[in-house]
Amino acid sequence: MSVTVVVGASVAGATVAQTLRAEGYDGRVVLVGDEPHLPYQRPPLSKGRLRGTDVDDAGAPTDTATLQPEAWYAEHDVDLRRATRVTAVDRASATVRLADGEDLRWDHLVLATGAEPRRLAVPGADLSGVHTLRTVDDADRLRDALVPGARVVVVGGGWIGLEVAAVARERGGEVTVLEAGPMPLLRVLGPEVAPLLTALHRDHGVDVRTDVQATALAGDERVTGVTLGDGSTVPADVVVVGVGVVPRTALAEAAGLEVANGVVVDELLRTSDPRVLAAGDIAHAWHPVLRTRVRVEHWATAVRHGETAARTILGRSEPDRRLPFFFTDQYDLGMEYVGHVGPDGYDDVVLRGDLASRELIAFWLRDGRVLAGANINVWDVSEQIEELVVSGRRVDRAHLAGDVPLDRL
Ligand code: NAP
Repeated sequence: MSVTVVVGASVAGATVAQTLRAEGYDGRVVLVGDEPHLPYQRPPLSKGRLRGTDVDDAGAPTDTATLQPEAWYAEHDVDLRRATRVTAVDRASATVRLADGEDLRWDHLVLATGAEPRRLAVPGADLSGVHTLRTVDDADRLRDALVPGARVVVVGGGWIGLEVAAVARERGGEVTVLEAGPMPLLRVLGPEVAPLLTALHRDHGVDVRTDVQATALAGDERVTGVTLGDGSTVPADVVVVGVGVVPRTALAEAAGLEVANGVVVDELLRTSDPRVLAAGDIAHAWHPVLRTRVRVEHWATAVRHGETAARTILGRSEPDRRLPFFFTDQYDLGMEYVGHVGPDGYDDVVLRGDLASRELIAFWLRDGRVLAGANINVWDVSEQIEELVVSGRRVDRAHLAGDVPLDRL
């Protein structure tokens, strides 16, 4: 019997197992994850789960994030190994070794080990009261700490930083965001659109400080403040570090697979050893439409990679052609982003609507062609924006800014 072992039981890994079964794989499927929980979605962790509004009558958080109920795994003959780590991959014998010494044979191996939060390399980074947010346990711990009046300092103005800042304000905290660069999300949204998010947070009472470095976390056992490069200290009861993640590629490297900004894979997610696939945050994958390799640390890519990897194992050649996509919710602002600007950058930004109203579509262009678009408090347009990007056609700037339907541009 054919055996597929999936290392990593988060969205990408669990989707491999689900898709294999949904699409007729009759071999053995082993899904190995290092967390004790059933596989779950991560987007709610920095939103609803952290807010704590999704609770049952007893006030306990309802686990809206679980992908499948426990019974599903037995019913679908998926051997889910929780709280278990794969410690080594041996390609010569086509086996993996588990932490307890058991060896599992495979015909196909999927590496979906995800990423882990980057730590702050400063004194005091291990004090209690210092949080990172990656797992459901992290989210529950952080929610308990976000009590009314808590002084919350968020280091890093990325997606974790801003989503946590919004929830911390909603839960009554006094919030400061420390961003090392000139503006939160500048790298993703550029100087034309990023100010919208900074203004949103300032309007909600967040102290957003830019061009600042945390040089130490102060306190004896518990954190009491964050020391900045100029020697001043921002008082803190809770510190949340959201300074990016590092893809977990150690197993792939030790197995001699090609690793360069993640595990290098083709459009079918095959590594340099075609029996071994990589999916999700760790995969630096050839994109058939963008015609370049991209590594995307967002939920939608994890889902799509899980599906693609399963189809590759089933012997089908069905690369995913959709463009990178992500969404965020902060206060009453919702945003979806689709497309890819890439290393050459954009040379024009067109806004349909204005930043001040916080209801608009932003388009990033190069040579008159749309590379990416973000709809902000405007809905049901993401697919049309994606079609516009994929079409590669030159668009009239005035039409783009005006009210010509997106599918007629
Ligand atoms: P991130 O989005 O990569 O943002 C990290 C931020 O921290 C960047 O703004 C970065 O600035 C800044 N930074 C880096 N080092 C710093 C330092 N020493 N001091 C202060 N700021 C520093 O990563 P994240 O927010 O930690 O999120 C972790 C992962 O979860 C990411 O992969 C993210 O995509 C994902 N996530 C996604 C969503 C969503 O899609 N809605 C929500 C939550 C998390 P520079 O850019 O200038 O380096």
